[in-house]
Amino acid sequence: MKTVITLLPGDGIGPEVVGGAVRAIEATGAEIEWEPRDAGASAVPKRGAPLPEETLESIRRTRLCLKGPLATPIGGGYSSVNVALRREFDLFANVRPARTFAGLPGRYDHVDLVVVRENTQGEYSGIEHYIDPTRSAAEAISIITRHGCDRIVRFAFEYARANGRKRVTLVHKANILKMTSGLFLQVGREIARSYPDIAFTDLIVDNTAMQLVRDPTRFDVIVTTNLFGDILSDLTAGLVGGLGLVPGANIGEDAAIFEAVHGTAPDIAGRGLANPTAVMLAGAMMLDRMGQRDRGQRLERAVRRAIAAGRDLTPDLGGTGTTASFTDRVVAELASPGSDASL
Ligand code: NAD
Repeated sequence: MKTVITLLPGDGIGPEVVGGAVRAIEATGAEIEWEPRDAGASAVPKRGAPLPEETLESIRRTRLCLKGPLATPIGGGYSSVNVALRREFDLFANVRPARTFAGLPGRYDHVDLVVVRENTQGEYSGIEHYIDPTRSAAEAISIITRHGCDRIVRFAFEYARANGRKRVTLVHKANILKMTSGLFLQVGREIARSYPDIAFTDLIVDNTAMQLVRDPTRFDVIVTTNLFGDILSDLTAGLVGGLGLVPGANIGEDAAIFEAVHGTAPDIAGRGLANPTAVMLAGAMMLDRMGQRDRGQRLERAVRRAIAAGRDLTPDLGGTGTTASFTDRVVAELASPGSDASL
């Protein structure tokens, strides 16, 4: 029986990279019925809203979604559809793996870590206002709950166990934010006692940024709150080649949305030059979530082998290939007899 999955091609380069990812995912043999829906700026003229009800209805039913980037107006206009989707489906865990790509000049070899970011609370709770009519000052409220800390830290430990990872580092700023970050640290230490098989440490966020730049190989799973996770996961993406390459998963109890971490890249949209790697790797994470880990791993290896081969790379990786020619290369890797060799 085919699995029904909501597909949001999104804005800018979204339809190009998502199209490549769909081809690669189907080439693994996965039986999927895609349900394409509109979201983002492109949905406004077609459906009258950036997040139409038909789109929400589809995700409510399928509980699985692969999405391209969505344009968000800066400093005004409609609020972020990405944030609205996280709220609507309570996608509390944002999972962002960063692993060195063979064949690409990176800052380090052997980076292999995962940032698990709390996705719904903290500074991004969305409660902010100007404090006076002249708008001379503004304040934001950061909400941290025991329940929110509990479920994200447990998620990180369970993820570590399920993926053969050995160490969880909890990142905080409890020396200054004694109650909000302090509660996160306190709950983390309590939960760590239930996972004696996984090493646990905690680290202050500024020190973490420095340690990540000096030696990222000492990290395995990082669990942290919303704002710190947002920043650190871009930093870790930079350690392995940049935002164009890394996937992200937004996971809740009942639904999950998989996406590239990069944006709509308006500067190259519509030219067939965008790199589909990040959405393809998001597709590999989605296959894993669907219980098809073998297919997900084959897809990730095929993408990595295509990059290591160095042909048909898109311009952002220094090549002269296109979205379509790189996708052809990944599909060919999936079909080749050596496609199970690890990389
Ligand atoms: P961006 O990621 O779109 O682009 C930054 C740079 O990276 C550009 O030079 C772009 O050409 C390049 N780039 C990004 N993805 C690439 C790819 N797959 N292949 C090749 N090059 C790639 O970031 P931005 O310019 O800050 O944002 C543009 C829009 O995207 C904004 O509206 C922003 O709100 C939105 N955005 C959406 C998401 C999301 O939906 N998850 C994430 C980030 C930004």
